[in-house]
Amino acid sequence: MSQKQQYIYGPVPSRRLGLSLGLDLVPYKTCTLDCIYCQLGATTNKTIQRKEYTPIKAIVTQLKQKIKDGLEADYITLGGSGEPTLNSKLGLLIREIRKITNIPVAILTNGTLLTDKSVRDDCALADLVIPSLDAADEETFRKINRPHRDISIENLISSLVTFRKEFSGKIWLEVFLLEGINTAPQQTEKMKKAIERIMPDKIQLNTAVRPTAEPYAKIVTRQKLTEIAGRLGPKCEAIAYAFDENKPEQSETKSKVAPRKAEITKSLLSMLKRRPCSINDISSVMEIHPNEVIKYINHLRMQNLILAVRKNKIIFYKAK
Ligand code: SF4
Repeated sequence: MSQKQQYIYGPVPSRRLGLSLGLDLVPYKTCTLDCIYCQLGATTNKTIQRKEYTPIKAIVTQLKQKIKDGLEADYITLGGSGEPTLNSKLGLLIREIRKITNIPVAILTNGTLLTDKSVRDDCALADLVIPSLDAADEETFRKINRPHRDISIENLISSLVTFRKEFSGKIWLEVFLLEGINTAPQQTEKMKKAIERIMPDKIQLNTAVRPTAEPYAKIVTRQKLTEIAGRLGPKCEAIAYAFDENKPEQSETKSKVAPRKAEITKSLLSMLKRRPCSINDISSVMEIHPNEVIKYINHLRMQNLILAVRKNKIIFYKAK
């Protein structure tokens, strides 16, 4: 990795987390799963091996600089170009963050490595953990999440149950619903039973409002999402459509993010008028992190200024 490699992106406005500063703990695209709805595209390194994929020392140095420059953020979010708990120095990173700032730490994880006690101990150092659970039976799990061969849905659910007992912070469980794949009443019923065992603080329902890795990963209507949320109980909310409402987010309007966002959006649109580009193309040309690119792309899509086209399994964006 080059000296100039950026492991930090944002802060970017996030409807769930306010202003979120993203830390990238694994290189593109290293994950234990290969979800059919992944916005980052196909997993190129499917693994369960933990190691220091991204050097923690470099992340901490970049974070210190951000703080020195007057960082404003509601959360420091550990995520990135794949599954962050694959980084074996996750716990050390959180301890280092605690030494330099009081900003709360959130982890976005697919939860599959929580079977490992050391991963649960690392995650328990955070303030908020947002794990995913898209299926409650093995067949649906394999269809949607295409896991590493050593991962099973029962182990995933049991480890979330164990983690809930060990962790005193907040757990917001994200469930990604895809039409005709995990929306049948018997699947929702199994999901409800799994949720009752896990006891998260919140359940947030998402769906494919944005282009997905596979074209057959289809969106669930707003009405159906709301109905399923009702069936899953009072702690469950449908968040997918709220993310794409075309209005500035509160945290965005009150911060210095807005001018930067306007500037980047303008250059991005002019780039997409010249030629169609993938998330990775944009990321390397504009030198911004793929996850941050996704935010700008979504903003332009909401304004109906660009469209997505799929070619050889890669999603390209172009101006209308
Ligand atoms: S767990 Fe997240 S990063 Fe990994 S493939 Fe699924 S959606 Fe993509």
